[in-house]
Amino acid sequence: NDARPLPDLSVEELDSLATGLRDAHAAQAAKGVTLDVTRGKPSAAQLDLADAMLSLPRSTTDRSGTDVRNYGGLDGLAELREIFAELLGVDVDQLIAGGNSSLTMMRDVLVDLLFFGAIDSPRPWVQEEKVTFICPVPGYDRHFGLLEDLGIEMVTVPMTPDGPDVDAVARIAASDPSVKGMWIVPTYANPTGATCTQEVASRLAAMETAAPDFKILWDNAYAIHHLTEAETKSADILSLASSAGNPHRAVMFASTSKVTWAGAGVAFLASSPQQVTWYLTHLGKGSIGPDKVNQLRHVEFFGDADGVRAHMDRHREILAPKFAEVDRVLAERLGGRAVATWNAPAGGYFVNLDVLPSTASRVVALAKEAGLSLTPAGASFPYGDDPDDTNIRLAPTMPPMEELTEAMETVATCVLLAATEKLTARD
Ligand code: PMP
Repeated sequence: NDARPLPDLSVEELDSLATGLRDAHAAQAAKGVTLDVTRGKPSAAQLDLADAMLSLPRSTTDRSGTDVRNYGGLDGLAELREIFAELLGVDVDQLIAGGNSSLTMMRDVLVDLLFFGAIDSPRPWVQEEKVTFICPVPGYDRHFGLLEDLGIEMVTVPMTPDGPDVDAVARIAASDPSVKGMWIVPTYANPTGATCTQEVASRLAAMETAAPDFKILWDNAYAIHHLTEAETKSADILSLASSAGNPHRAVMFASTSKVTWAGAGVAFLASSPQQVTWYLTHLGKGSIGPDKVNQLRHVEFFGDADGVRAHMDRHREILAPKFAEVDRVLAERLGGRAVATWNAPAGGYFVNLDVLPSTASRVVALAKEAGLSLTPAGASFPYGDDPDDTNIRLAPTMPPMEELTEAMETVATCVLLAATEKLTARD
């Protein structure tokens, strides 16, 4: 079994390898099956874990006796906020429970910043000549799409295993007053799986910024989505920012989209008490209150924070074998070949695959021909532009195991085939 690095092979050896790969590729295409590892969606088996919620809530009143079927309670049920305040490591009076999507909350915050400005803004952001955000890459495609839609410019910094490259962030934030904020997925980042260390978080919380109203949009979507028994703890960004004298710098987001049901969960926002009030004031013009029936359903289903932890263990039992399978197939087929690197994340929903520069879009196109949908190359970069055409995001959660194995075999075939094409073209 020849598993030498591809760059060490002669042109003849590469040609003969490519012939076998082309046959495997054609055979997969001929099967006519369609496979999809594009989006980080929970599988049906994961959604089933929460099916007891279909007959909840039993009660129509919350702890304080309020009828949850009626209007009101814009900040969300206190008993649900208590559970998630513990899990997210924030004070309950700094945490809001809202509707089913944290992404919608992020959009609301950005629109409010543009239209009204923050409590520490000299003027609404739309009145600035230009607004720029720092975007760690690779990152979450919807973060970038949201900024693009709102006309906010993007400047990239590299992600490192410890979080965003903090020297690069600090340099950009200090030098340009149009730089008003940044994205971070602090724990098990989409897609690199990196977790922002306490050191990186404290520098971000304390760094000098040219804009007086710099915002860290701290999207902790995967805070409790551990794939191992070591439960990584997120840095406490709100306390760090507040003790550094920048209490309004960070806005935290989270949701139960990958805890209960992706389409019918509960989203959360946390920030300084004043900034939470700012958010609620604007929200209150467009809402008389959240879906408290769904919030109570979640309270009754979980009971307490330990109930959530136990539930996440059951997700891990489903997900950990899938991530192990991705690693097994990629290691078996690509290990030692010097054409790809990938990570084995300790949590979250993605595997980050880097292939030979200038081959990622070719890999995605080859996969398509074989019936496998991959996230478009470049999707994890602003404007869909990966300057090296090297990054591919794999989302292994949704397909059943047999399909996942077939999908990863196909990925490996396409990565190797694209690499042989590139290496023979060079010679
Ligand atoms: N943030 C990140 C980093 C995500 O990966 C996702 C889901 N793919 C979301 C937010 C979406 O969250 P929600 O369902 O709460 O809108």
